[in-house]
Amino acid sequence: LGLAAGFGLDSSQESVLDECPSEYKVLVIGGSGVGKSAIVSQFTTSEFLGASDVQTDAVEQRTSVSVILNQEESVLELIEENSLANLNDAGSEKEVDAFMLVYSCADRGSFRSAQVALRRLREETGRGKPVMIVANKVDLARKRQVSQDEGKNLANSYNCKYIETSAALNHNVDELLAGVLSQIRLLQCGQFA
Ligand code: GDP
Repeated sequence: LGLAAGFGLDSSQESVLDECPSEYKVLVIGGSGVGKSAIVSQFTTSEFLGASDVQTDAVEQRTSVSVILNQEESVLELIEENSLANLNDAGSEKEVDAFMLVYSCADRGSFRSAQVALRRLREETGRGKPVMIVANKVDLARKRQVSQDEGKNLANSYNCKYIETSAALNHNVDELLAGVLSQIRLLQCGQFA
């Protein structure tokens, strides 16, 4: 008795799922030239891509992609941002759900900018929101200036996730997309996706 009900959703779980939104904004930030556009353009060829069109607005550097993860479709709006000056706006007023903080592991200056940005994100606008630290251009192994340990330590010290990508080789780019969506859903919907 009561066993079947025990395996179903109780009313509180149902209401969490009902309230779970399916459209999210993700700010892709990082210095000019780190590979933000290249990463976003690889998202548009992702194996997680849904049936709906990819929409891009080149002027505002916004791209919407529909992503199917664990049989559920979400629309991610990716907003590319070079300048940290707009972070307040971007983080709070535009109601961003998560951040991809990108640097090039072949450019130490871009890592330093990421450190500054992360401090601001954690202390101001992005508090409590998922941040994925993205070390891009790992294919440039012989030009590498920032080690994996440095990237991981930065991520650990601010309770963020870390991923190494190569937009040029489409390495780990799908994992980045799925990873950020999973984190958003976990936080907002309580799903272990
Ligand atoms: P953004 O200014 O951050 O949007 O950077 P872009 O996406 O325009 O990339 C800047 C330059 O870096 C371009 O010439 C890209 O082809 C190159 N690039 C981007 N990602 C990678 C990568 O993973 N590896 C290599 N070798 N080059 C990359």
